[in-house]
Amino acid sequence: MSKKLAINGGTPVRTKKFDIRKTITEEDKKAVAEVMDSGDISMFFGSPGAFWLGGSKVKEFENNWSKKFGFKHSITVNSWTTGLMACIGAVGIEPGDEVICTPYTMSASATAAIFYGGIPIFADIDPKTFNIDPKSIEKCISPRTKAIMVVHIFGQPADMDAIMAIARKHNLKVIEDCAQTPGIRYKGRYVGTIGDIGGFSLNYHKHIHTGEGGIIVTENDELAQKCQLIRNHGENLVASLGVKDISNTLGSNYRLTELQAAIGNVQITKLDYCLKHRAKLAKYFSDKLSKFPGLTPAFVAEGSEHAYYQYPIKFDENIVGVPRATFLKAIAAEFPKPDIWEQTVMVGGYVAPLYWAPMYQTQTAIGKKGFPWSVNPTVKYNYSRGICPVVERMHEKEMINSPMIREAVTEADLDDVINAIEKVIENIGELKGL
Ligand SMILES: *Cc1c(COP(=O)(O)O)cnc(C)c1O
Repeated sequence: MSKKLAINGGTPVRTKKFDIRKTITEEDKKAVAEVMDSGDISMFFGSPGAFWLGGSKVKEFENNWSKKFGFKHSITVNSWTTGLMACIGAVGIEPGDEVICTPYTMSASATAAIFYGGIPIFADIDPKTFNIDPKSIEKCISPRTKAIMVVHIFGQPADMDAIMAIARKHNLKVIEDCAQTPGIRYKGRYVGTIGDIGGFSLNYHKHIHTGEGGIIVTENDELAQKCQLIRNHGENLVASLGVKDISNTLGSNYRLTELQAAIGNVQITKLDYCLKHRAKLAKYFSDKLSKFPGLTPAFVAEGSEHAYYQYPIKFDENIVGVPRATFLKAIAAEFPKPDIWEQTVMVGGYVAPLYWAPMYQTQTAIGKKGFPWSVNPTVKYNYSRGICPVVERMHEKEMINSPMIREAVTEADLDDVINAIEKVIENIGELKGL
């Protein structure tokens, strides 16, 4: 094979496209067909009675989820975005309350608070795990702080011991966004109920899915009931249920259908394989990556498992010799053009730090008068560039995200990725001045 890099007209390392993940099998189809035959494709009813908590498949799926992980309450919702909103409502966030969140996450982790008039305050991240940094959380606490939204990003739990200690000290609620960490343990405990309440996404891109969907988990009976009320028109139910504190029980329709719940019952049986395969691939990839100076394989903290929703690599441009964008362009040229994002070998960064978004820059979320920031008119909220220097450096320069750790990928596929990295690094001189 010519050593000339493909970006300069050389022969690429690979011409065959990578397989795309296939998540739906005959079993899922059969489960859906059974519900279709029954005709009861959703059984929820928004008023008192047997079906206020959903139909048989919804209840079965919730039971299966609780049983598998040992959670007391599992409450399905039609997305984890709405699940996050229900959690925010349940813990009692009200206009002007501040919720501390990481900026390196999917936007919904932070926006959920805004729907209740809560104000996201962004703490910086740990440069090794990319998770929210407890030291930075402490600096964000004000008399208005009510909760911490913890996101276990890319598949690895955040530093929960330190976070829970801060929460107890300052009397804060802790919500765990486990969208990227289903079935993952932190020091032996499944994430989701280490804090007060948490939950999982079941959207198509997640480890297991129901197309769209989510599931809230908690050990707290009162929080569970609030979520059930919010999920299904709570205002109609509070009287008959004798709910004493009706604050934030105003409801919506966050109900999962029986069709999705039936898929969920099949998908839950696929999770163990999914996590095991990803862990095996990641170990293989990490071992091989560790021989390249300037590339640091995914870090896994002591006592943590990792779901590898994404595989994060640290890139040091001073050691590799070219900027990240140049390196990634050269790598991409060694592979066929992807049909979908999942087939990309490596991408630079993740979602841009959330506070860069126009909503935070202009403090314009609900209406045009600055709500919810306007609730605290004497507080000057700062979302300028530079407030979280670590996240900005990771996103702009140092983090490389690989979607290669997934069910359809083999060790032989990863060998091609490793060969491409080796080729680019050995011939880095070809990239200087490009
Ligand atoms: C996917 C995801 C969500 C949103 O979940 P949906 O089910 O798509 O609404 C929230 N937070 C994180 C970290 C996610 O990855």
